[in-house]
Amino acid sequence: MATYRARALALRKTRLGESDLIVTLLAADGCQIRAVAKGARKTKSRFGARLEPFSVTDLLLARGRSLDIVTEAECVTSHEALRTDYDRTTAASVVADFLDKVSVECQAEEQLFPLGVTTLDVMESAAIDALPALVAAFLVKGMAMHGYRPQLAACAACGEPFSAERGASRRFSLEGGGILCDGCVGADPAALRVSAELAETLGLLLRSKMSDVAGAGLPAAKVKEALVVVRAFAGYHVPARMKALEMYVGGMQ
Ligand SMILES: [Zn+2]
Repeated sequence: MATYRARALALRKTRLGESDLIVTLLAADGCQIRAVAKGARKTKSRFGARLEPFSVTDLLLARGRSLDIVTEAECVTSHEALRTDYDRTTAASVVADFLDKVSVECQAEEQLFPLGVTTLDVMESAAIDALPALVAAFLVKGMAMHGYRPQLAACAACGEPFSAERGASRRFSLEGGGILCDGCVGADPAALRVSAELAETLGLLLRSKMSDVAGAGLPAAKVKEALVVVRAFAGYHVPARMKALEMYVGGMQ
């Protein structure tokens, strides 16, 4: 049987039969892998906790007819703290769910894996208060990598940069992917009402390193608004439902 090696981040597990698991993983090149781990639910499984969601492992896989089979798994980073603390688990679940929904088998998107792993690394030790900002930063960066970079400095309808003559309105168009100018405010009747500071918050989250976001001490109200907008933005453009994100933002309101 043909085999291959891959470093991958475990995103999700599903039971299969009596004692097996189907594990969904994000490989380092951004491709999604779905593989069977035989006997992984037995107490004395040779895989132990290495295929639990949020863990990073070096895998040896055998190509199967439909699903590949995990034959070896060596721990790189377990991210154990993300599974043992409720606040960290719910934040990390948004990351795993997003990566699960935007990644595709055999379709490389090389920035996704480093973004996901870095976010989880920082979430492991960040202050609990900083977790919502990390979730928001992850989502806005993830959407940008996925081809939906929010347009913040120019109008999302006419494309003209904001200026003294052409001011930014307080409307964010999900369809257009950003803030509308005063002149185009009627272009998308479904545009969300946002604060004047939203563009600045999203811009900061987009530009900042994850470790800097964790220490930035962003006001909770600004983070919450960013999360509400980016949830709606992701929900509009990603065809699959992201339950972990809905629950996360729903739980804040
Ligand atoms: Zn415009």
